Amino acid sequence: MKTVKQLPLRSEIPSDLTWDLTLVFPSDADFEAAFKQAELANQKIKQIAGTLGQSASSLKTGIDQVLALYRQVDKLSAYASMKNDQDTTNSHYQAYQAQVETLIAAVNAATAFLEPEILAIAPQYLKQLEQDPLLQDYQHFLDMITINRRHILDQERESLLAAAGDVLDNSSNIFNILDNSDLKFPNVTDENGQEYQLSAGIYDTLLESPDVTVRYQAFTNFYQVYGQFKNTFAATLAGEVKKNNYLAQVHHYDSAKDQALAENYIAPQVYDTLITEVNQHLDLLHQYVALRRRVLNLPQLHMYDLYVPLVAKPDCDYTFNTAKEIVQNALAVFGTDYLSHVEEIFTGRYIDVMENQGKVSGAYSGGCYDSAPYELLNWQNNLDNVYTLAHETGHSVHSWYTRHYQPYMYGDYPIFLAEIASTTNENILTEYLLQTQTDPKVRAYVLNYYLDSFKGTVYRQTQFAQFEHYIHQSAAQGQALTADFMSDYYGKLNAHYYGPAVINDPQIAWEWTRIPHFYMDYYVYQYATGFAAASYLAKQIVTQQPQAITKYLNYLKAGNSNYPLNIMQEAGIDMTKGEYLKTAFATFAQRLNELKTLLKQ
Ligand SMILES: [Zn+2]
Repeated sequence: MKTVKQLPLRSEIPSDLTWDLTLVFPSDADFEAAFKQAELANQKIKQIAGTLGQSASSLKTGIDQVLALYRQVDKLSAYASMKNDQDTTNSHYQAYQAQVETLIAAVNAATAFLEPEILAIAPQYLKQLEQDPLLQDYQHFLDMITINRRHILDQERESLLAAAGDVLDNSSNIFNILDNSDLKFPNVTDENGQEYQLSAGIYDTLLESPDVTVRYQAFTNFYQVYGQFKNTFAATLAGEVKKNNYLAQVHHYDSAKDQALAENYIAPQVYDTLITEVNQHLDLLHQYVALRRRVLNLPQLHMYDLYVPLVAKPDCDYTFNTAKEIVQNALAVFGTDYLSHVEEIFTGRYIDVMENQGKVSGAYSGGCYDSAPYELLNWQNNLDNVYTLAHETGHSVHSWYTRHYQPYMYGDYPIFLAEIASTTNENILTEYLLQTQTDPKVRAYVLNYYLDSFKGTVYRQTQFAQFEHYIHQSAAQGQALTADFMSDYYGKLNAHYYGPAVINDPQIAWEWTRIPHFYMDYYVYQYATGFAAASYLAKQIVTQQPQAITKYLNYLKAGNSNYPLNIMQEAGIDMTKGEYLKTAFATFAQRLNELKTLLKQ
């Protein structure tokens, strides 16, 4: 007889393991009252349209009113989405969530005048206005809007392009529908005889199976389906690339890459340096792959053998309380100020710990400018969850510093910087575990966990970034992006990355068909730069380099008050240069050697 593990109901979870959202709004009635106020404020906001360029004071008032409205909406959105996430079957909060989404769309439409109106102010006159003491703190805000001025078309042409947005997004929409709804996958059986219908999630799990036949079956069946639709996927991806190239061209950028990076205030050298350095350090990945083949004791290593853990999960039990203790001890290296915020998060009710029926899966750190940072977890007693706690707490403390040290205008941080704070904590946890754990099984697991994260984040995402740039460049030069053209390049690139120790199975050449991030316009490289930067910063901190902690805390406090590369420069990294990447590769090499030695014993 089968026993099915039943998740508890939301109402059955002890309250001290749930987050306390009454600290955001004391009651639903307060949320509803605030919602009405925001609706009213939104109706009035149009009155300031057309007034911004009149004087320094009208510019300040206009910006303040729009930001005040955004701030109200952020709080409503945080409350509704967290209430909804804790139990998505609760129709009361589903309705809140839907109302907030409608309000956000209305607010976006009503405040769409802000940027064009600021851009319409003659540059000389704007400079003059900015000199007014009233606008002293607004200079960077105005600069973020106007820095790419020469790439912005007149209002009429910009609104034509905006109106075509839906049509231009069609390739990406079709990809999503095909990938998420229409593709049908066959059933496969795991090592325990359990039958599954393949899906992206099940595929990832089956590739971790210790049984090579299970992995082989999952791989061949999965790619058989993608391969069958490769021409359709080529058409959707080609459409997306053409869109990016077209928009870059009409906005007078030299390439889609230049546009995507400029819009996030990132210099193209950051991207180029990443590609160069990773390509110069592929020998380490080749060594890692060779180690994998030896440890798994396989005559040949295939692409479907790259995800099975080399080391069995240690059967130590990490309860949530133990995990908090480990994370606190690891993060103590940051000093008392940082640690006091970790303690606040761990002892206040800011974490929603347990799984329950209807709760969203995964983990995140959220909240808003006017609330504490909250964390959603789905706790399991294993080491991976200890890492998740360290990761999300890295985001939470980053949010805490940014929200307390910056005005609302600069009170958030860009994606380019976000994952650095969370992965620095993961790296510090790794250092701490390697310093404190004596059990060779635990040490080997930690080393393997680190190496696999590095492989998946630095090497794999850079491989994606390189492919993404190649197809954009090729299309810009008139090359038709057919399935064969893209697969030919992808297969060669894959062989180049993983090296001679792995069989470059022909199916892997179709991997580009199934990567949703290729529809996110030069996004993936940030995973790689973020992980490497975090690796560098963690090293600086644990080896107690002078000023390392002060500089790091300044990064956490900076929010959007400066451009991301300047903030990282002040934190100690010039991300246009390769040094931080070289340091990260040195750590990878050192840990690879440690694992080799451990596994020989
Ligand atoms: Zn994260």
